[in-house]
Amino acid sequence: MRKWNRRVSHVLCAGVLICATNCVQQHDSVRPLAKRTVLPEEFCYVDDEVPQLRADLKYAGSDNFVGRSISGYIGKRPILRRDAAAALRHAADELRPLGYGLIIWDAYRPARAMRDFRAWSRTPDDSAQATFYPRLTKEGIYAGHYIGDISEHSWGIAVDISLYRLADGKLVDMGGRHDLLDPSSATDSTEVTPAQRANRYLLRDAMQRAGFENYPKEWWHYRLSNSRPWFSYDFCT
Ligand SMILES: [Zn+2]
Repeated sequence: MRKWNRRVSHVLCAGVLICATNCVQQHDSVRPLAKRTVLPEEFCYVDDEVPQLRADLKYAGSDNFVGRSISGYIGKRPILRRDAAAALRHAADELRPLGYGLIIWDAYRPARAMRDFRAWSRTPDDSAQATFYPRLTKEGIYAGHYIGDISEHSWGIAVDISLYRLADGKLVDMGGRHDLLDPSSATDSTEVTPAQRANRYLLRDAMQRAGFENYPKEWWHYRLSNSRPWFSYDFCT
């Protein structure tokens, strides 16, 4: 364990955290996840900061456009940089009296996950196309800037997020699911109903007041505004 800590400190000083062992879990399988995962001090578990937060990390399972778990995702708890998590709490505090809670589908994303996406894009597998990119090819996903090789998720300042109703736990109808890589997922899309679009705006307005900005092509994607520094991390979640 001492060797691991020394290596973490070293790479932190270098500015970019590299997962020195392949994944901590694989090398220390006795201790529970929360204790065996070493977070950089500028990061935190979001559910420690945001009351009533729900999480369903799509890339930790198979319910995503690749159809399997993505490299680097081990645990089930969302992680963000502390400044992003603090801002998210402001959004949650505004939405709670209105009867809404936040659900996170992705937050910090290891850089190796981006490499995994790219490796998948070079395979012939299109098994998830009908559900996730019905009007695009894999090449179109990249050309349309739904995915790139670098992500602000890997900087720890971006979240894929939606709303649920506190009264019954049901997801709010946004007119499409997470990672539906499609023109109808544009926040202002007129392919969804006015009520669905109003729900997108409810989320957007609260997030903007909390300091986030929306990616207009994806109603669920937000990044913390005016935050520095930006560089990708690669520790396993
Ligand atoms: Zn995103």
